[in-house]
Amino acid sequence: MKYYRSLILAGILTGLVPLGGANMVNSDTHESAMGPFTLRLPAVYTRQAADEVVQTVRQLTVVIIDLFGPQKTAPWELVVLTGDARIDRWVGRSLPDWVRGVAIDQPAAIIVKGPASGSVSGGQAEFHRVLLHEMVHLYLYRLQGQPGSTPLPAWFHEGLAVHVSEQLSGAMYWALVRASLLGAFYTLDELEYVARSSIDLSLQAYAQSLVAIQELEHIYGAQAIPDIISALSRGGSFERAFIEGTGETLADFQVRYRSRLEARYNIVLALAHPRTLYLLLPLLVLAAYLIKRRRANKILRSWELEGQLRRPQGDDS
Ligand SMILES: [Zn+2]
Repeated sequence: MKYYRSLILAGILTGLVPLGGANMVNSDTHESAMGPFTLRLPAVYTRQAADEVVQTVRQLTVVIIDLFGPQKTAPWELVVLTGDARIDRWVGRSLPDWVRGVAIDQPAAIIVKGPASGSVSGGQAEFHRVLLHEMVHLYLYRLQGQPGSTPLPAWFHEGLAVHVSEQLSGAMYWALVRASLLGAFYTLDELEYVARSSIDLSLQAYAQSLVAIQELEHIYGAQAIPDIISALSRGGSFERAFIEGTGETLADFQVRYRSRLEARYNIVLALAHPRTLYLLLPLLVLAAYLIKRRRANKILRSWELEGQLRRPQGDDS
């Protein structure tokens, strides 16, 4: 409850009043594999919708624990807002309009936009994706409270959240090809400072962080990430946990990741990519049709010409 008091206070201080206060339903606290969570829902949500949210959260916590291993549980809160509500009024700082979810370290909370109808079943993949993404952040935040631990690098935090919750989308793929063309790949250190204010820069940061995680798995094997997380849970720096999980230093990984990134997303490969062919296929079909029609016209014209040439003969018959 301390969380809401501080938010309301922040609201008064900054002139922003959390919209949720009046029309939110205080739900019970529920158990989950990541600890008990208190659920706050908009008043439009029915009891059945609330149950669906609880079930979804429970399933997703199990997914995360299965992937990364169990951790010490702790209470947290989940606030679900309607699609038109502004998340930044809940977190006390300005956020771009397109942000659909936020995870807060202290006090542990997730604020996410839910389906307008309140029903999370059937076709609500976006809600699941955003919720899972934020829950991975929540899980990772908890690794940072150990003795001697340092903040996790942004590429690892963000990359893992994207890696668990979605695939490399077409938009991300082309963002990488564009970065390759412009020589705009960031180093892992630079990804720490990429501004998330524009959707374009965020897409670049998400895509490059995701590829860093994919390459980490590709180079060191599927067990590397759970091993890094297990080392982090025992405390110490990220650099040390990385060596424990992979047998190499972050600097070694940076070099290998960079050369793979440049090889995988160069424009020549992009043009040979099945997705490109798929996009170009309608154009190829159109080009083939135009060439064929031109040839057919030519043949027709030559027939006409032949016809004209033959006509005197034809008159004879
Ligand atoms: Zn994120």
